[in-house]
Amino acid sequence: MKPGPRPKLRRCAHCGRLFAVDPRLKKLHRFCSRPACAKASRRAAQKKWLKSNGGKAFFRGMENVQHVRNWRERTPQYWKRNRRHHGARPGAFRLTRRLKAVLKSVALQDTIDTRLALEIGIISRLSGAALQDTIAREMRATMLLGRAILRGQRIPGAH
Ligand SMILES: [Zn+2]
Repeated sequence: MKPGPRPKLRRCAHCGRLFAVDPRLKKLHRFCSRPACAKASRRAAQKKWLKSNGGKAFFRGMENVQHVRNWRERTPQYWKRNRRHHGARPGAFRLTRRLKAVLKSVALQDTIDTRLALEIGIISRLSGAALQDTIAREMRATMLLGRAILRGQRIPGAH
C-alpha cells in the first residue's frame, strides 16, 4: 500500500488540542472529535445558520409575535367582539381545533387518490358496504349529514 499524504493537523477551535483534519471537510473541519468540542461545533453551526437566515430579523419577528399577544391581552373586548362577528358569518363552517388539525393533515397528503380512498374507506366501514353502487348511495346520504353538521344544524338522535 502506498502511503498517502500526511494528514494535516489543526488546533481545535474549542479545546486547542491538535487533531487530524478530514481531507473531505478541509476548512470546515475546525473542531476535534471530543464530545464537548462536537457540541461546541454544533452551537457554532447554529449561530452561523441564524446569521445567514436573517438572525436578528428572526428574533425581531418573535418579539413582534409577543408584542401582538400582549396587545391582545390588554384589549380583550376588541377580540371578543371580533370573534363573535366572525362566528356569525352566515353559512360559515364552524370547525373545532381538533377537526381542523385532522383536515389539515389529510390536505397535506394532497392527492385526490388519498382523499377518495379515505372517503370510500370510511363509508365502507360505517355501512358495511363494499359494492361501489351501494357506497355511492351511502356517500350521498353521508355528505348531506356532513353539510348539516358543518352548518351547526341539530341532528335528531345524535349527540
Ligand atoms: Zn477539541
